[in-house]
Amino acid sequence: MGKQLLKVVLIGDGGVGKTSLRNQFIHKRFTNAYKATIGADFITKEIELEDGKRVSLQIWDTAGQERFQSLGIAFYRGADACILCYDVTNYLTFEHLAKWRREFLNQAGIGDSNPDFPFVLLGNKIDINERVVSRRQARAFAQEHSTVTGAKMEMPCFEASAKDGIHVEDAFVYIAKTVRIPQMELDMIGNGVHGPGSAPRLDWDAESRKSKSCC
Ligand code: GDP
Ligand code: MG
Repeated sequence: MGKQLLKVVLIGDGGVGKTSLRNQFIHKRFTNAYKATIGADFITKEIELEDGKRVSLQIWDTAGQERFQSLGIAFYRGADACILCYDVTNYLTFEHLAKWRREFLNQAGIGDSNPDFPFVLLGNKIDINERVVSRRQARAFAQEHSTVTGAKMEMPCFEASAKDGIHVEDAFVYIAKTVRIPQMELDMIGNGVHGPGSAPRLDWDAESRKSKSCC
């Protein structure tokens, strides 16, 4: 059985906490230092699921250039899942998600070719007591941008605090559980991630999806 290695990209406005979420997930650590350098990088983490299956997540993060310029095709291409991040205390970051989603679909070369592409919504900074984006608004966004094939599937939405380490794993584990690269495709690409230009074709694991309740 080919090993599942999923490329996961974190996108959203600068400052919403993407780097902190990844640090917390990978290292279980939060640092307040804000580092904006140029470039993008990934860190791979293997997750063992309850059924014993192992899935590696290759988590891509920008290094600050989302403030100034487009992230570039290499960042997006071959992604198997995309986490749309916003800050629950900053409404603008939530408003910009539609733009981020469009940019992702265009740059990744997915467009309309895969109406089921797995997006996950993640609102960060719930430790701060100044929420301006409600759960209801998040759900409305998720519903509006849900995928349609057969039964309408809702984009899952999560809320987290990278600072306090609350619910940070949820979105990542959800992706590891639900996104599957078909075996046939794994055989073709070996154990690597999709090459540039190959649009990801993913199967959602319908059973896992059913069991998940959103925020
Ligand atoms: P990025 O630009 O999206 O990668 O955001 P960063 O991870 O660099 O975080 C931006 C700022 O928000 C930093 O000062 C972080 O310390 C802070 N931050 C990130 N996550 C949280 C969180 O969950 N709660 C709070 N209170 N601050 C956070
Ligand atoms: Mg960052």
